[in-house]
Amino acid sequence: NLFQVLLFLCITLKILNAMTKPKLIVHGGAWDIPDQYVDAHITGVQKAVETVFPRMEEGLSALEAVEYAVNILESDATFDAGRGAFLNSLGEIELDALIMDGATLDFGAVAAVKNLLHPVSLARKIMDEKDFCMLAGEGAQQFARSKGFTELQPETLLTERERKFFAQIKNDPKYRPIHSFSGSTPNDTVGAVALDNTGSLACATSTGGTPRKHPGRIGDSPIIGCGAYAENNLGAASSTGYGESIMKVILCKTACDRLEHESSMDAACKSINILKQKGKGFGGIIVLNSKGEYGFCHNTPRMAFAFAADTDVHAAIQM
Ligand code: ASP
Repeated sequence: NLFQVLLFLCITLKILNAMTKPKLIVHGGAWDIPDQYVDAHITGVQKAVETVFPRMEEGLSALEAVEYAVNILESDATFDAGRGAFLNSLGEIELDALIMDGATLDFGAVAAVKNLLHPVSLARKIMDEKDFCMLAGEGAQQFARSKGFTELQPETLLTERERKFFAQIKNDPKYRPIHSFSGSTPNDTVGAVALDNTGSLACATSTGGTPRKHPGRIGDSPIIGCGAYAENNLGAASSTGYGESIMKVILCKTACDRLEHESSMDAACKSINILKQKGKGFGGIIVLNSKGEYGFCHNTPRMAFAFAADTDVHAAIQM
């Protein structure tokens, strides 16, 4: 009868209401992105959100979403992650990545791996292991092989843009990686932060590190709390910028801790201020709190990011 139908509808609406509306925000680096690269950056971050967000509305978990979004950005040669990564001082590509589940605090990280298009997916596999959560170099490479990852020819990840850029800075005695975040040399680390419809948070970050870095140099991106952090009760964050400074102030954990008393936007901007004041560095951060409110901030001239807004995907290069 009518009463039963109405009761059923009320209960269904209540259940639907209790389910969190999913959220997704991604970034594609923070630096003085030149005008001629702006479109590629906007298109890249927008594509990641436009592809992954509809799947989240169908029930994709936050953890699956951040891996998927970062995979898309790793495949895009615009960014310094997977294909398109910078070369180290030996002219080789070494990749770092981190993924974290805010529900369990489980994380997986990988550092200085070569010849992989999707280091974040290797980090995800490491997350499932019981005896370790971070692998570097040859050990990471062996683990990748044992899990069936395809090792690519190094040239597959190398782009003409990076080959030319490396030739320019290779022997330049004045070049220092920190200059690149404020100046015009590229820094395009990628990251994603998501909240799924069960209320769970996750984050991921992937990078080729800084241009002409020392072989074996590991930046902030694969370090928990620095390159990314997620904790369901607080929020989640992913960062980009000068790794040596970001590590000093444990940027993403700093931002997440502030979420206890601050809005996402305040936590993002205050932690970037700490990066500037205490870490003496440049960078950017994306943040999501447990209520699904977005925050983003940077002290570099520009930052590329995109997020799923209520009605559509908002993608921008923020100045
Ligand atoms: N944070 C990265 C690193 O220092 C670089 C970047 O964000 O572009 O390795």
